[in-house]
Amino acid sequence: MGELRYIGETELQRDLDNLKAVLAGTTVAGAFLPANTPGTIEHWMANEYYKSDEAFLFAITEAMREEYKAIVDDGFLLQIDDPDLPDGWACLPDITLSDYRKYASMRIDALNHALRDIPPEQIRLHVCWGSFHGPHHDDIPLKDIIDLIFGVRAGSYSIEASNPCHEHEWRVFEEVKLPEGATLIPGVVGHCTDFIEHPDLVAERLVRYANLVGRENVLAGTDCGLGTGLDTPRSAGPNSKRSPKAPAAPPRYCGERPSLLQPGGCYAPHGPCNSHNCPGGMRKHSGSFFGLALLRSSGS
Ligand SMILES: [Zn+2]
Repeated sequence: MGELRYIGETELQRDLDNLKAVLAGTTVAGAFLPANTPGTIEHWMANEYYKSDEAFLFAITEAMREEYKAIVDDGFLLQIDDPDLPDGWACLPDITLSDYRKYASMRIDALNHALRDIPPEQIRLHVCWGSFHGPHHDDIPLKDIIDLIFGVRAGSYSIEASNPCHEHEWRVFEEVKLPEGATLIPGVVGHCTDFIEHPDLVAERLVRYANLVGRENVLAGTDCGLGTGLDTPRSAGPNSKRSPKAPAAPPRYCGERPSLLQPGGCYAPHGPCNSHNCPGGMRKHSGSFFGLALLRSSGS
């Protein structure tokens, strides 16, 4: 056993090259590549070398920093996928809320340490409760962690907001303010159903947020990709052959900013959350998974 180091350079470069190839010849407002958080990766790896959880966590952090910087250096927005922040709660069934907040705070400190050289406007944080299909009855409420979420030094925050366990939490923003200059990306299209939500419903969700945080501060997002846990292909847009009568696009209630839902738009769903308790999470591998898979001990 030895110190952790990042060995995913080749696979990361392949992901970056693939994304550039897809974007070639298209006009987009921007594009992102996801990467996992140290806290999420920690769920998947056993510490058999470091003397403390904190030392292990920060070793992961230093290794993943290389991936974070490479994505930004290549001109892409870095999307930090952080199902761990809320989902760690389900891993620790006996922990108190107070202790959980300390647990999560350390993971956020580690993440911020890894992001220290990247401007916040080049960082988007994606937070979800895991895209696995299950009851989600023990999900930690958004109100209990929203300040921690906003403690991550990102320029935009993508948060699940349209599935049956979390749609009601738009009211959190009746009292909570966005960080100065930040953009909120509520998931206004769910990932948990084969139904294609009606555009008026999507618009209603979006307008709720626009009314609370200001329309200039909202960008439409998806809960956790589109249908990442479904057994049948989910229609991801009106161009799908499965939905020939789908509307061209949801109404633009929030000004002229590009919508995540815009046909041919620039933002792809990040793929599955590789949540520790996600039965379908490993079915497909997103780019963010490689950071996890390719962290190896340098010794033997
Ligand atoms: Zn997610």
